[in-house]
Amino acid sequence: MLLATDLDGTFLAGDSEKRHQLYQLISLHPDIDLAFVTGRGLESVLPLLSDPTIPQPDYIICDVGATVVNGETLQPIQPIQSDINSRWPGEWKIEQAMSDFPHAVRQDVPQERRCSYFCEASALHEDFEKIAKSFDCDLLYSAGRYLDFLPKNVNKGATLTALAEHLEIPKDDILVAGDTLNDLSMYEHGFMGVCVGKSEKELLQQTDGYDNVYHATASGCGGIIEAIDHFGFLNAKKAISSNQQSAFLGEAELVIVYHRLPFEEFIDDGAVKQRNPKSPNGIIPTLLSFFSDGKKGSWIAWTTLADEVENYQAKTTVDDELYPNLTASRVTLSKNEVDIFYKQFSKEAFWPTLHTFWEQATFREDHWKVFLKVNKKFAEQTAKEAANGALVWIHDYNLWMVPAFLRELRPDLKIAFFHHTYFPSADVFNVLPWRRDIVGSLLQCDFVGFHIPRQSENFLDVAQGVTPLTVKERNSCAPRFLTYGCAVGVDEMTTLIEVNGRDIHLGAMPVGLDLKRIHRALDNPKFLDKTKALENALGKSRLILSVERLDYTKGILQKLEAFELLLTQHPELKGQVTLLTICVPAAKEMTIYQDLQTQIEQVVGRINGRFAKVGWTPVQFFFQTFPFNDLVAYYSMADVMWITPLRDGLNLVAKEFIAAQGLTDGRGVLVLSEFAGAAAELRGALLTNPHDKHDLAATCFQALNMDKDEAASRIREAFWVVDRYDIQAWGREFMETMKKVDDKA
Ligand code: UDP
Repeated sequence: MLLATDLDGTFLAGDSEKRHQLYQLISLHPDIDLAFVTGRGLESVLPLLSDPTIPQPDYIICDVGATVVNGETLQPIQPIQSDINSRWPGEWKIEQAMSDFPHAVRQDVPQERRCSYFCEASALHEDFEKIAKSFDCDLLYSAGRYLDFLPKNVNKGATLTALAEHLEIPKDDILVAGDTLNDLSMYEHGFMGVCVGKSEKELLQQTDGYDNVYHATASGCGGIIEAIDHFGFLNAKKAISSNQQSAFLGEAELVIVYHRLPFEEFIDDGAVKQRNPKSPNGIIPTLLSFFSDGKKGSWIAWTTLADEVENYQAKTTVDDELYPNLTASRVTLSKNEVDIFYKQFSKEAFWPTLHTFWEQATFREDHWKVFLKVNKKFAEQTAKEAANGALVWIHDYNLWMVPAFLRELRPDLKIAFFHHTYFPSADVFNVLPWRRDIVGSLLQCDFVGFHIPRQSENFLDVAQGVTPLTVKERNSCAPRFLTYGCAVGVDEMTTLIEVNGRDIHLGAMPVGLDLKRIHRALDNPKFLDKTKALENALGKSRLILSVERLDYTKGILQKLEAFELLLTQHPELKGQVTLLTICVPAAKEMTIYQDLQTQIEQVVGRINGRFAKVGWTPVQFFFQTFPFNDLVAYYSMADVMWITPLRDGLNLVAKEFIAAQGLTDGRGVLVLSEFAGAAAELRGALLTNPHDKHDLAATCFQALNMDKDEAASRIREAFWVVDRYDIQAWGREFMETMKKVDDKA
């Protein structure tokens, strides 16, 4: 069947349960085609196409019949469209003629091949008909306020008839649905149709007695469902109830959806075993702590081990003693899926774009398909685990499309999303071919969180370009964040928006550190050995430290070149400073990093070749991962910590340095890129612009020469932030925000 439906008051109306039922039926049923037949202009229909909960139409008839396009390509359906065009005199002629009637106000919504006015019934004038006639146009008045000048013989019913003939769809296979006089022509063209509950009185009167029209009781989608049953389409009751039976439901009150499991899995003697992760980041223990009160919970992450052992059990407990009611529920993926979805596509398409290096991005439709498939698996697993009304917390851009699939399966859930990476401005983000799908998915959440206000504001800007939205709450950023003081500062941020009648909270909550981990490293018996060894290796040379992953976003090459400039401008530093660079290599599948590694090796070779003296190597470069304890020892010894990413979501290394120095009364200086998220938070750091080699070198020089008392006081200022907003505070802030979501719901 083809369901040809009006939007406002019809397909977009009705109670949420009925809407969900109908949308599911259309999405899952192979025999239903969908046409939107609306008074909106095409531009105003586009936002609906980014709403993943609404089924995508095969055809769109808009502008009250004056526009007809393919729902997927949005290209006009010819020759129907050309024929309509040839009958339209041009809007300016009608506008001119109507300028004598100020009570008819031109609607300022997108419209083509028609002129739409607001006009109260009392302001209707007999000359309107005359004007229409003089241009060989039709006039249509509906809902007591919409006045449309349309090309001759153009209306929803006529265009739908032309489309049905063009596609050779028999009339009997078409059901039309509407609620105002705007829709009357569809019934008049003889299609079987429904006037949904709460339809305009005049429409009901005029269709009274039509054999082909059913007047439904329920409004919106409920009325359409009644009509599908009434006319005997699709064996509707069976189709709808079988969809309902497939509903997912679980018991977890809180579900964490994260790409990593809270433990490491390995195969021993043919069996899968668990152990504590070798490098636990601070987030995992905090997320786990939500379950220490015995809350029923589930942790969704992927595994590739299912292919390697027999009878792999996707569900397992995490820690019977500490979290008795928490299970890990694994999404089983093949190695190939992980390679494409995580190591290649996420890193090659999304990572560069998110960090404003869109020119380096590669977009592959076949990889996007894998990304969707994997995200859908995550959503299905989550839907199976979550209890009614449960809170689901999804993490990072690898799982961008999970909210879309999840909301469709489980409208009852509270969905929160935290974006761990940078979120760029609309000019950059909009380069992504799938931006509408991604934003449409994120707008299914109840809360979307970012590290800093700038990122949240960027997201808002992107969303505003995709769909109409209302800003409901804005707050000053000043108490917590730098406003005008750095490149990623912003003075106000929006914290609540409304899209399609749903509230979405936005937040800025930079991830904090697990300070206990730093304490443990400082208290480690080997700490002094490490610092002594480094002291001996450095001799009288002062230490400039740099720690980062191998990635073009981290600005490693630019930093090395700035160091070369520093030694050229200040020859007195030769033999007096050493740049110790720790660079964590990328996984070998990530081939995009190979060139960068070669370039870095060349520059390091050049600097050392040019400046080294017996007993002094200016750049000590390590392409290695260091144990965390070693890093903390080096942090505590650094005279200057030089962190200069070109763009970074946050930068935990900066916070770790501040913590190590703060806990040891240090006098080191943090030189931090003003493009790192942490720059908006860490007062006391010396900020630098990594795109400007001269500024990089000058700020490093300033740090090397900073008075020790000033350095100590800057460390104390930054440590206050790191200490107060630690990782537990981050978790607490999230839970408090979600309570607000509850209170407002
Ligand atoms: N790290 C480490 N060993 C190393 C280098 C880095 O354990 O040799 C850790 C570091 O302590 C920090 C993390 O890796 O916790 C890097 O986080 P950051 O936010 O700075 O950068 P990202 O890699 O997330 O972009």
